[in-house]
Amino acid sequence: MAKTLLIVDDSATMRKIVMRTVKMSGLDFDKTEEAGNGVEALEKLVAGPVDIMLCDVNMPEMSGTELVKEVRKLPDCESTKIIMVSTESSQELIDGVMADGANGFITKPFTPEKFQEKLSPFMN
Ligand SMILES: [Mg+2]
Repeated sequence: MAKTLLIVDDSATMRKIVMRTVKMSGLDFDKTEEAGNGVEALEKLVAGPVDIMLCDVNMPEMSGTELVKEVRKLPDCESTKIIMVSTESSQELIDGVMADGANGFITKPFTPEKFQEKLSPFMN
């Protein structure tokens, strides 16, 4: 079944790189949206839940770690899979955000293979 994707990152360039890497990974989404921070992402999710959200950690307005907590409060987004994408990779950060409800963590720099590995379990 076709899936929807939301890419959340405060860098427009990084959003494009993520989008291109997703395409290169061979994963097939029929709709991809973008948001520049957590507040924008929440607005989009309230308007229409997505299947998978790729989420930066460091962002203005609302960080990725705060966003995870907010998304998990939304009943309609219960099944949304959240994969964090960050240059920060401390075990403390990863453990914290996974405990808050994230479903995976990809560290930058990333590869199409890494996207394939981390996202394909959620594409069924
Ligand atoms: Mg950032």
